[in-house]
Amino acid sequence: MAGNNHKSKKKQINRAFYIGRFQPFHNGHLKVISEISKDVDELVIGIGSAQLSHTPENPFTAGERIMMISRSLEKLDLYTYVIPISDIYRNALWVAHVESMTPPFSHAYTNNPLVSRLFSEASYDVRYSPMYNRSAFSGTEIRRRMLAGENWQQLVPPAVVNVVEEVRGVERLNQVSMKGDIESVLEY
Ligand code: ATP
Ligand code: MG
Repeated sequence: MAGNNHKSKKKQINRAFYIGRFQPFHNGHLKVISEISKDVDELVIGIGSAQLSHTPENPFTAGERIMMISRSLEKLDLYTYVIPISDIYRNALWVAHVESMTPPFSHAYTNNPLVSRLFSEASYDVRYSPMYNRSAFSGTEIRRRMLAGENWQQLVPPAVVNVVEEVRGVERLNQVSMKGDIESVLEY
């Protein structure tokens, strides 16, 4: 009976994983994800160091980074899950930690040697993601330009400019980067 074969004929969904801190999400990340979208049906995007915000290296909250990513990928023909992943500081347990927070996936895209090693050891298929215009498409460079009052807007998707403006991100970055008598980073 044709009906009996229905399940076995169902196409297997090709779902992959990609992680970054996205402080902020920039055109390099967008280019990588556009390329990945040609190969996969669905992409799980992990927001690394999700617990961090309001620091010079990590100015944006996980929620703000979700807005940046979701809005920037709206026009892409790719189903995405954006999942915050907080740090656990236990490399040997990190893949299990990721798995506990994400939909299942079969392969991971990265060019980070540690991420690659950890996924390989957990028997995932790891695929290399190339770097694009790294001197400019870099979170560090974008935050530097924000602080220096230089043009950073051209290095990120328009949706990211809107989110940064909405949350007054440059003003926040400036304030948490100030040196003063009172420590601007909370001790905990
Ligand atoms: P930061 O300088 O704050 O570390 P970043 O630009 O390195 O920011 P991350 O948020 O750390 O970006 O994200 C890391 C992921 O993004 C890695 O997989 C890295 O390879 C990828 N990535 C970063 N910049 C680029 C780029 N220009 N082209 C392609 N991939 C990039
Ligand atoms: Mg980085």
